[in-house]
Amino acid sequence: MTQCFELETYLEQLAQLVNIDCGSHTPAGIAKVADVITPMFEQIGFTVTRHQPHPDAGPCLFITNKPNADHYDVMLSGHMDTVFPEGTVAARPMSFDSEKVYGPGATDMKSGILSAWYALKSLSSQELENLAIVVALNCDEEIGSIYSREWLESIARQSRQVLVCEASRPTGNLIRSRKGNAKYEIEFHGVASHAGSALAEGVNAIYELSHWSLAIKDMVNLETGTTMNVGIIEGGMAVNVVPDYAKATVDLRFWNTDEAKAIHEKLLSMAETPFEQGAKVTVNRLTFKPSMQPSSDTETLIKLVSEEAEKLNIVYGWEDAGGGSDGNFTAAIGTPTLDGFGPMGAGFHSEKEYLLIDSIEPRIALLANTLRRLIA
Ligand SMILES: [Zn+2]
Repeated sequence: MTQCFELETYLEQLAQLVNIDCGSHTPAGIAKVADVITPMFEQIGFTVTRHQPHPDAGPCLFITNKPNADHYDVMLSGHMDTVFPEGTVAARPMSFDSEKVYGPGATDMKSGILSAWYALKSLSSQELENLAIVVALNCDEEIGSIYSREWLESIARQSRQVLVCEASRPTGNLIRSRKGNAKYEIEFHGVASHAGSALAEGVNAIYELSHWSLAIKDMVNLETGTTMNVGIIEGGMAVNVVPDYAKATVDLRFWNTDEAKAIHEKLLSMAETPFEQGAKVTVNRLTFKPSMQPSSDTETLIKLVSEEAEKLNIVYGWEDAGGGSDGNFTAAIGTPTLDGFGPMGAGFHSEKEYLLIDSIEPRIALLANTLRRLIA
C-alpha cells in the first residue's frame, strides 16, 4: 500500500479534479471531471461507461472491473458535482498547507473519489478477479439526485453492499445512519374582501396558515428525532384586504421513515378539513429522502470495518448524521450501506471546507482492506 502512495502525486491529481467548476447546474464542468476520471480507471483495468440521466444534467459514470456481471459484491458510491457556482474555482482554486487542503469540493467529495481509485489500484489482480466491483459516480447528489436516483437504486439492487465515499468526520467517525428529509410547500386559498366594509365575506388565508403553523409545531417529536420547521411564509397584499392566498415552506427531518409517512398522511387529511370555513389547502411534497438505517446485515459490515480500522490503529467511531447522502437511497431499497469512506474533513458547502492531509493514506488503506474482506 505505502509503496504506491505519494502525497505529492495525490495532491496534483486532486487539484486537477477540484479546479474545475462543476456545480450540479454546470453539466459541462461535470463532463470535464468525467473526462479526467475515465482514463484513470481505464488505466487500472476498469471499464467506464457514461450514462446521461437527463438532458439538463451532467453525465454519470458506471465503472466496473466485471463488465459482464449482473450482480456486484460491492458498490462504491460518489458524486462528481459540487454546490458551487461557476467562477468559484477562479476565486479560490485548490490550495493547501502542511495540515489541510482547501478548495471547492476538495472534501465533498473529490478526495473521496480519488481515494476510492487509490484503494482499487492497490488491490492485486488476483483480488480483483474474485471481487465484482461497481463504482457509481453521479452528477446531481447536491440537488437531491433528482435525475440519477433511479439509476443509483437500480445499481444498488444489483449489489450486495454499498460503501459511500463521502468524507469521514474530523473526529474520525464513519457514518452508519443518516436522517431522512422532506420539503413541503403548503398553499392556502381563501376569499378576498374589504377588511372594512365586507370582513365577514372574506376567508383569511393567513389565519388558516397560522393554524397550520401551530399544528405543525405540535407534530415535532424531539425524542424520536422527527422534527418539522415552518421556515418561510408568505401571503397577503394590503393591510385593508382579507388575504386570499398564503404559502408556507416546511422542512421535515426523521430517523423513522414510517413516522414521516404518518406525518405525510396527516397533512393530506388536514387539507381535507381546513380550520377556517371556506378555506382550501393544497399540500405539495417537493422532495423526499428516506432515512438511512442500519439493518442486521449492516451491523455485520460495521463489525468488519471496525476490525479493519483497529488493525490499522485508526481513530474512528460510528456517527448518526443529521444530513443526507445517496446512502439514504441505497439503504432504503434494502442494500446494506455505510458511509464516510473518504478522508476526514468538514466545512462542507462553504469556504471553510477542508480536508485533513494526515487522514488521506490511512483512509485509503481502510477502504482497501475493507474491500479485501468482502472477497467471498
Ligand atoms: Zn457530498
